[in-house]
Amino acid sequence: MRELQRKKKILAGLGKAEKAAKRRKYKCIVPECNEDSIKSHSQQKKHQLESISEDSQVVAMKKSLYDVFNRDVNELLKELPIGEVSRFSGYCNQHDTSIFSPIENGNIDIQKAEHNFLLLLRAISHEYATKRGMYDRQKDILFKIGEYFSYEGRRNYEASLAGVKYYVEKDAPYYLSRVFRILESKKWSEISFNSFVIERNLGVSSTTCFSPFRENHSEWMRENFDKVQPFLSFSLLPESNRTTIAFVWLSEFDDHCNEFKEICKDQENILNILNTYALCESEDVCIKPSVWGKLSKNQRSEIYRHMGGRDSLPGAEHIPLVLE
Ligand SMILES: [Zn+2]
Repeated sequence: MRELQRKKKILAGLGKAEKAAKRRKYKCIVPECNEDSIKSHSQQKKHQLESISEDSQVVAMKKSLYDVFNRDVNELLKELPIGEVSRFSGYCNQHDTSIFSPIENGNIDIQKAEHNFLLLLRAISHEYATKRGMYDRQKDILFKIGEYFSYEGRRNYEASLAGVKYYVEKDAPYYLSRVFRILESKKWSEISFNSFVIERNLGVSSTTCFSPFRENHSEWMRENFDKVQPFLSFSLLPESNRTTIAFVWLSEFDDHCNEFKEICKDQENILNILNTYALCESEDVCIKPSVWGKLSKNQRSEIYRHMGGRDSLPGAEHIPLVLE
């Protein structure tokens, strides 16, 4: 009975925090812009998401903590309308349109440094906007229902919150000042990339930023706690009959990104490599429903085990292949 009461209180608190988060307004992330941000898509609805949708639905991650907690099943991904997935409060209407227009509507030319830069900008904007929202929501949850957490649960929660705070207040402002300086000066030589096209639709769409150290990330952080964390962006952009793949990073992180420079579309295990990054390093992955539907319950559980952690788990390259 007591346990049931506790669960009820937690659910009520999560519901409230969820509602408050929906109402919260954020400024456009362009420096000195004072407009409110709108909901932008980190993955384009037209062309990109449409190309993997069935009945206008794709399989994507449930964003609501309330949902995750309320259903005692471990399905992290579910079918959602394409209008609702991969959205984030990042830019005002004007900046969202003007900054990204060169890569909209299937016009992306992955040979161009500028287009690679815009993919990096979109990925880092999405990461930052998601984390700033997450930070406020998690603080709110701790305030509202922290007293119902177990001792261990609360400790883990606070540690995770501290990580998000560090990112939002220290790392992200540095990254954003760098990318907006590049956008303004058009010095594309300050980014590096390895990008290519595979001539078919791989059935999966994803935009993410991750650490080049992957499973050794925390170890690197412990030894370099005063340094900015290197990161790279990864975009997997399907269209009706091809998929564009882009790994992009700031040139100052070149020394840490050699592994990504060498990835080549003709290498034998290319699909497994892309599969790992799209599923294990991204919380923003979208999958064609019939493709996801082919996996068994065990295969899905194995993928879930690798999703969403701060550090990558070893063995991520052996998860079931989802890409077509
Ligand atoms: Zn703006």
